[in-house]
Amino acid sequence: SLQSKDIAHQIHPATNLRRHERVGPIVIDRGSGIYVYDDEGREYIEGLAGLWSVGVGFGEKRLVEAATRQMAKLPYYHIFAHKTHEPSTLLAEKLVSMAPANLKHVFFTSSGGEANDSAIKFVWYYNNALGRTDKKKFIARQGAYHGITIAAGSLTGLQANQRGFDLPLPFAKHLTCPHYYRFGLPGESEEAFTERLAKELEDLILSEGPDTVAAFIGEPLMGAGGVIVPPVNYWQRIQEVCRKYDVLVIADEVINGFGRLGTLFGCDTFGIRPDILVCSKQITSSYQPLAAVLISDEMYQAMADQSDRLGTFGHGYTASAHPVATAVALENLAIIEERNLVANAAEVGAHLHAGLSRFADHPLVGEVRGRGLIAAVELVADKATKARFDPVGKVGLKFFDRAHQHGLIIRNVGDSIAICPPMIITAAQVDELLKRFKATLDDIT
Ligand code: PLP
Repeated sequence: SLQSKDIAHQIHPATNLRRHERVGPIVIDRGSGIYVYDDEGREYIEGLAGLWSVGVGFGEKRLVEAATRQMAKLPYYHIFAHKTHEPSTLLAEKLVSMAPANLKHVFFTSSGGEANDSAIKFVWYYNNALGRTDKKKFIARQGAYHGITIAAGSLTGLQANQRGFDLPLPFAKHLTCPHYYRFGLPGESEEAFTERLAKELEDLILSEGPDTVAAFIGEPLMGAGGVIVPPVNYWQRIQEVCRKYDVLVIADEVINGFGRLGTLFGCDTFGIRPDILVCSKQITSSYQPLAAVLISDEMYQAMADQSDRLGTFGHGYTASAHPVATAVALENLAIIEERNLVANAAEVGAHLHAGLSRFADHPLVGEVRGRGLIAAVELVADKATKARFDPVGKVGLKFFDRAHQHGLIIRNVGDSIAICPPMIITAAQVDELLKRFKATLDDIT
């Protein structure tokens, strides 16, 4: 069977490999709108839009046609050594027109991890160009997800991605996760929590030495680490501290970008003016692998001067600016605009949050959180003390398994149940999702 071949030969990302051998895979066979179907014809609401990414939903013919047209015309070309082609050029122009702040130059990769690795290297190259050769450290947060390559995986702040892999590398430092419900101290206000985190950042910069700290990287709203909404005024204070010590601000918009929070970018929701913005996933609704790094003109000019001195800008991938991926992105962004999916994420997102907040009284539910069409429900062993289950993730995993029986695919991050449906979801479909969510919650209680 396909299942036994899978178990025999495939190594699954972010999966307990031995457990996978025992429970085996569900074979996902096709998709349509917010639904996917397994090989026995069972229907599931894709409550996580694949991996937080299939914004326009499954089976979108316009994306198939855009890919087919580009495949027929020019299936592959690179933009190394003074070549270019239409789709990546038009997409770079489009991204610059959409981006917050003054980001003017775009570098394409195939994945978010490669994009963050590229951002790290650009910052190092930039600081070398300015003669600041010691200014190389990066500050990230516990609970962050920035990918799993060796460098980006060092910025990630999740044990599962680092334990056993000898990560993080020493250039990456981590601060407290900005999760007020979990890490606010007893009696501490949300504002005081923000102040404590801003001071923690400043103290770290000072103890490491401002001349050695290059950049702060953060997801505007943390996704894969459990859908963490930053506390009030958090990004204002973080940016103030970074500016004071000439530390670049990098917004990792890989999940937030292109409407997920009900604004075009997470930066728009939280008032972030980044020096670098990284995006992926919903850029193509994951119909093609693609990510982008956007940088300011100031950074670009210094990098261009440096490459003139060194002879070449020695960075790039075979699939950088892939014509089929970038053609699909252009069509996908057109669909997001034409169908007002950013506004839909705000409106239907509000409906989702109203519905989820009705679970707040449930004995297992500690916190309901999120923004736009991304949310999490954190399950706890004791509502009053916020005590976690032992081991962490025990009940979350049970929810994850049982949800399948109720026709729902979600993701458990420990015991937090994450929801991030395609952005085309309607209010009526959200009601159906909530019904399946409640059935699962009742089932595990
Ligand atoms: N950054 C963020 C915020 C992400 O959520 C992810 C993936 O989930 C990545 C980076 C890494 O992207 P990829 O899996 O394409 O390498």
